[in-house]
Amino acid sequence: MRIDIITCLPRLLDSPFSHSILKRAQDKGLVEVVVHDLRDFSTNKHKAVDDYAFGGGAGMVLMIEPIDLCISKLKAERDYDEVIYMSPDGELLDQGLANQLSIGGNLILLCGHYKGVDERVREHFITKEISIGDYVLSGGELGAAVLADSIIRLIPGVLSDETSALTDTFQDNLVAPPVYTRPAEYKGLKVPDVLLSGHEKKINDWRYERSLERTKQRRPGMLDE
Ligand code: SAH
Repeated sequence: MRIDIITCLPRLLDSPFSHSILKRAQDKGLVEVVVHDLRDFSTNKHKAVDDYAFGGGAGMVLMIEPIDLCISKLKAERDYDEVIYMSPDGELLDQGLANQLSIGGNLILLCGHYKGVDERVREHFITKEISIGDYVLSGGELGAAVLADSIIRLIPGVLSDETSALTDTFQDNLVAPPVYTRPAEYKGLKVPDVLLSGHEKKINDWRYERSLERTKQRRPGMLDE
């Protein structure tokens, strides 16, 4: 899988992909993440990628031409499953959507900034719009990093224990059970005995019950699904 991220602020994406699980996934060749600087596609002598909004009003708008040039170049090189625009009014990202995108092929993620992108980009080049939540961010970069993270960790082989994503919250419509690590007792605070029992069935039953209990308390709607 390959994820191409188009942004006018590539430095904002330096860190999320350079550490831990997301870095290892790339090192193992399981995913390729390529960040493209929109300014490299500007034909303007000042390398501008944004301009004032027609009709007036505050806030700059990312121009269609550099976005078109970048997307066209990428699409000429390989096929893409989706060209996604990060947008607060897009489809809400959830685990189901992350699962779906993780089994697909290549993705382009377009990050807006300032007031957003010229509407003609959304109408003609974008196949899907995704929001990471009902709030407004300054730019699509953090959203794209969240989306890419949620997808990449689901690619087989990325997590060292392959079953581990399956026991996370939202898989099987249950939230995850509580977890503990050493020491077994800290300042009188004890780990539940069953987890120290070594009895696999009892441990699994306990975890399932705690998951169910927590789901009822915290995400009751998930049990109806
Ligand atoms: N004027 C726009 C918001 C622009 S915010 C509006 O009111 O809808 C600037 C950019 O940040 C957007 O173009 C989008 O790419 C990104 N963004 C903001 N909030 C987001 C969210 N919740 N999810 C994904 N991307 C978001």
